[in-house]
Amino acid sequence: MSKMRAMIVPEPGKPFQLVERDVPQPGHREVLIRVHACGVCHSDSVTVQNLFPGITYPRIPGHEVIGTIEALGDAVEGWSIGTRVGVGWFPGSCGYCAHCRRSEAYACENVHGATGVSRDGGYATHMLADVSSLAHVPASLDTIESAPLMCAGVTTFNAIRNSGAKAGDLVAVHGIGGLGHLGIQFAARLGFRTVAVNRGRDKEALARELGAHDYIDSAAEDPAAALQAMGGAKAIIATVTNSDAMQAIVGGLGAGGTMMLIGATGPISVSPIELLTKNAGVRGWYSGVSADSEDTLAFSELHAIGSMNEIFAFEQAQAAYDHMMSGRARFRVVLKID
Ligand SMILES: [Zn+2]
Ligand SMILES: [Zn+2]
Repeated sequence: MSKMRAMIVPEPGKPFQLVERDVPQPGHREVLIRVHACGVCHSDSVTVQNLFPGITYPRIPGHEVIGTIEALGDAVEGWSIGTRVGVGWFPGSCGYCAHCRRSEAYACENVHGATGVSRDGGYATHMLADVSSLAHVPASLDTIESAPLMCAGVTTFNAIRNSGAKAGDLVAVHGIGGLGHLGIQFAARLGFRTVAVNRGRDKEALARELGAHDYIDSAAEDPAAALQAMGGAKAIIATVTNSDAMQAIVGGLGAGGTMMLIGATGPISVSPIELLTKNAGVRGWYSGVSADSEDTLAFSELHAIGSMNEIFAFEQAQAAYDHMMSGRARFRVVLKID
């Protein structure tokens, strides 16, 4: 039996371990993927630190996967061996429950959890994936450089395009990190007046290069007041992982505006009066299902949108993870898996 290599989390809180295993056989409606690249995402800490109920160990993390289909399980239709595919956080869906039938596959009643959390992910040479979790990867996209689009990309693209903002509306991207630097590119290319919001001025030039039309230094001025001075935001894409910072910008929403929460952080408090007087709202957004990932990849190809990455060898997964967790990565970290 042929062998694969994987970086496992042996038990919660323990360092990664490189192990060799038998390559698994794809089961019903599954494919075997030869993994070429996997992004290292802050959400991998969910697996490393056991932050979701019911994770079993050892577990292989990784939900920003690009690879090639190497084998098909039974009942797989529409996908072929050799096809390049991406897999993100979305682990697939049953296709027949009430939510799936109503285009809410992210809330599937039968398939729960996430890639690299409830099932093994892409810190490995091979992985199994449910066929409903697969996205096609456009031919011109680079396999390694595009991996972060499978989480950071789809999360920002999908939140922005579902925010209710229309072409020309003011959209604020709050935070210029792994999510935000993609969010600025998407918002600008989607036709919004894009304002980047970050503490300090050191990322202003980059934000403008990425397409931001305006910049607010949230350390020097009240970001809510600054947005109001621009007419109020139709959407605020909150990528920061700091509750106080999120709270400080809600007041920047304009009439009918929506704050899209995609930075996973603790509780925030919002004044109902502030919202109800403006028909404004604050909502979360699930990253996206496989079709959303496919749309993200296609849009990124069309507009030459990419994440800025630091590439690590697969064997350096621990260093890559530690670097990402330190907050010093500019901006995404990717494992190259030969
Ligand atoms: Zn992620
Ligand atoms: Zn379902």
